[in-house]
Amino acid sequence: MEIKNYVEDAVIEIAREQTATDEHISHCERCFMDVVVYALNKLKPMYAVSDEGYIFTEVRLDSAQMKAEITVAVLEGIRKVKEHPHHA
Ligand SMILES: [Zn+2]
Repeated sequence: MEIKNYVEDAVIEIAREQTATDEHISHCERCFMDVVVYALNKLKPMYAVSDEGYIFTEVRLDSAQMKAEITVAVLEGIRKVKEHPHHA
């Protein structure tokens, strides 16, 4: 069994959507990960126990409000990373 932060999966998914049209970030793993980390630090984690894909704790990541919150954090992260990329 594993403890998993389900917000992590959602942030990665939404960050992929939001950076898909960004010429740099969509091809730069470092910047992409910086966006994900920035958003994760802004958001409350949502831990659940997972066992071979089965989720024991009900996790509501599909709610529109949750998705909106994550999108805002991701967009903020994209802006920060573009202002100050962690590489030359
Ligand atoms: Zn980069």
